[in-house]
Amino acid sequence: MSQQKQAVIIGGGVVGCSVLYHLSKLGWRDILLIERSELTSGSTWHAAGGFHTLNADPNIAALQGYTINLYRELEEISGQSCGLHHVGGITLADNPERMDFIRAERAKHRHMGLDTRIIDPGEIRELSPIVNTDGILGALYDPLDGHLDPYGTTHAYAKAAQQQGAEILLRDPVRDLQARADGSWEVITDQGSVRTEHVVNAAGLWAREVAEMAGVFLPLHPMEHQYLVTDDLPEVYQRDHELPHVMDPAGESYLRQEGRGLVIGIYEQDCDPWAIDGTSWDFGHELLDNNLDRIADSLEFAFRRFPCLASAGIKTVINGPFTFAPDGNPLVGPVPGLRNYWSACAVMAGFSQGGGVGLTLAEWMVKGEPSRDVFAMDVARFGDYCTRAYTRAKVRENYQKRFSIPYPNEELPAGRPLNTTPAYPIWTQQRAVFGQAYGMEHVNYFALPDDELLETPSFRRSNAFAAAGAECHAVRTAVGINEIHNFGKYEIKGENARHWLDTIMAGRIPAPGRMSLSPMLNQSGKLIGDFTISALADNEYQLTASFAAQAYHMRWFEQHQPDSGVSIRNISARRLGFQLAGPGAREVLAACTRFDVSNEALPFLSVRRIEIGHSDAIVQRVSYTGDLGYEIYVPASQQVSLYHALAAAGLNHGMQPFGMLAMMSLRLEKSFGSWLREYKPDYTPMEVGMDRFVAYDKAVEFIGKAAALADRANPPPRRLASFIVDADDADVFADEPIWKDGKVVGFVTSGGYAHFAQKSVAFGFVPTAMIAAGTAFEIEILGDLRRASLYVEPLFDPQGKRMRG
Ligand SMILES: Cc1cc2nc3c(=O)[nH]c(=O)nc-3n(C[C@H](O)[C@H](O)[C@H](O)COP(=O)(O)OP(=O)(O)OC[C@H]3O[C@@H](n4cnc5c(N)ncnc54)[C@H](O)[C@@H]3O)c2cc1C
Repeated sequence: MSQQKQAVIIGGGVVGCSVLYHLSKLGWRDILLIERSELTSGSTWHAAGGFHTLNADPNIAALQGYTINLYRELEEISGQSCGLHHVGGITLADNPERMDFIRAERAKHRHMGLDTRIIDPGEIRELSPIVNTDGILGALYDPLDGHLDPYGTTHAYAKAAQQQGAEILLRDPVRDLQARADGSWEVITDQGSVRTEHVVNAAGLWAREVAEMAGVFLPLHPMEHQYLVTDDLPEVYQRDHELPHVMDPAGESYLRQEGRGLVIGIYEQDCDPWAIDGTSWDFGHELLDNNLDRIADSLEFAFRRFPCLASAGIKTVINGPFTFAPDGNPLVGPVPGLRNYWSACAVMAGFSQGGGVGLTLAEWMVKGEPSRDVFAMDVARFGDYCTRAYTRAKVRENYQKRFSIPYPNEELPAGRPLNTTPAYPIWTQQRAVFGQAYGMEHVNYFALPDDELLETPSFRRSNAFAAAGAECHAVRTAVGINEIHNFGKYEIKGENARHWLDTIMAGRIPAPGRMSLSPMLNQSGKLIGDFTISALADNEYQLTASFAAQAYHMRWFEQHQPDSGVSIRNISARRLGFQLAGPGAREVLAACTRFDVSNEALPFLSVRRIEIGHSDAIVQRVSYTGDLGYEIYVPASQQVSLYHALAAAGLNHGMQPFGMLAMMSLRLEKSFGSWLREYKPDYTPMEVGMDRFVAYDKAVEFIGKAAALADRANPPPRRLASFIVDADDADVFADEPIWKDGKVVGFVTSGGYAHFAQKSVAFGFVPTAMIAAGTAFEIEILGDLRRASLYVEPLFDPQGKRMRG
């Protein structure tokens, strides 16, 4: 076998076959799927086949909706039945917090066009008389839920792809991958080798091994999972129509009808990561030994919730492994650090997500980018910090949390602390309560003396509310200090640095000593970054952006890096520092340097290398709080020294430390957007008001320029706006629907309580024609419609006098 292919997909589970189908649908013909055994030989064959749309990320939920709606089409094209049962699904709520969660989910679905509804215990019993509704307050009903035949569905994808000319090679394991100098790959199998432009890792249970063949680690791990199939039950077979699915989060179970009996699966706390040292190549169409002890408590709970189960005989127990990423979402896209190597891995719900994963990856490969923001399943949302052990701890935690309420303010404990800065012990002494992003600890807030060192997970205002409020007050009335390690930082140097930045950034590149804010766009003119650019010298720049987007941004930079003249380094962990913000910030800074830091010497948006304390620091005159402020960066090894210099100077100025909750509250008062909330690849600069930072007239053909110009010529029908919300004890978080005159007209991107302004604030999209100061809307928070009034001027310092003064 020696051939040249456009793409080789490794793995014939439901995901590999979906990728094959979607690539062929988008027009690629010379594509080959290689399967070591028969199709479905990994997790796929023993899946319970359930599908649903629920996902915390609206775009993933939409892709799950796409997957489910695809099955009929697939059956028609392929002539192969998927064995569909569209029976609907019920997610039970047995306490007020769970009711808050399902109400918030229902609200999100309104602007996503999903037809879910909240039902009461009576309706639950009507839909599924086998449920004991004692203690149940209500449920979310989703008519799209159902189940299918995993074998038939995988073969339907495969046949539909083959009809378009795609090839499938069975019983031929891929043994090795060799990267070629031109970016293509040699795929070595038992039967020979195939040369291909692109490789897709869809190897499911063996995804780690196939990643190792290319020299990379993908953060995923298999977990064991069990479900039981019962004997025939009269409560089931005496009905004239099929029972809906029932998810019982309190019992960590899902249940559905299977023929004349039931299937019940458990996500138990006492769970086991599988194949820690790697998946054996000998593992095939076999099941793992049952371990009913592990799920005994959950089964007992299930017998109370579904009394007919107690008398049911068990026909089969399925215990099989399947893979998860640390957050439970798939790992999709170009693998950072490699050329033309794509991931379609860690798909833990192949029958809910397989179609969306296939579509996304195929769009990315064929068109250069997916048609919507898919950061929530982008393989680059994780970075090198994800070691094997950390991944395993997080995957186990995610499995255990499968049915927990995902509170918006919850910080998950497994594997922490992992990365900390030298300042970490300083904060712990001050009663810091930490959060984590991209493996790095950051202070969320400092607990008040009589409060515990933990923020209570809640959909409503938490115990952190008063502490964050006090921190905001200290910043606005005196001065605050906050660690700025959680920005992604990049050093761009070299003779072509300026020109390269001009092509990659849509904004103006500043002159030496100056800073600028710049959107970064993809080819379609959508936002893929919001950067602060500091020109430290001729052809030496520091870029700062979202900390969590490091692998995502580095991947883009490297994809567009010229062969010579530009060096790009991710220096996020090397350059650390602090931010001083508030009216007293200048006095504090002046007290620890012999340099002039007056407004004339160090004006807004300027950058200088000056001595601060004992360090040569980079000082940027900017603050995300929107106040008078400075960001001060030093080498990581001097961070503690810098802290002591600033802290000593701050003593006379009432300086207080503040955390991320306060920072995110302060930015609300200035109507500053935030990455992945207001700024993400779903939106254009015009839609979010970033157009003022786009240098449409610069001579350089920056990436996305044509699309940005077209966007400017045809003003978008929706735009981002700010609202003051008549909230009660809960503020918006994200994705709440915005109503006007009884109709949903938009959705929230983010918001919260602006402590200093003492207003509950929401940012969100509404039709451009509705944007006028004072226009009345309603925003749905936890099932209540709250009055919301649109405003156009920032709540704090609208003229920017403090920030620039
Ligand atoms: C007990 C259980 C119940 C489940 N229930 C559900 C459910 O109800 N709903 C749902 O959506 N999901 C369910 N799942 C999860 C579902 O099975 C997975 O999401 C899905 O099967 C993942 O498919 P995949 O194609 O990514 O991986 P896999 O099915 O593991 O496929 C990978 C394929 O790649 C092949 N391969 C690997 N390495 C090589 C190589 N080197 N060369 C050639 N071929 C190779 C393998 O032979 C295999 O066929 C369940 C899983 C389990 C274990």
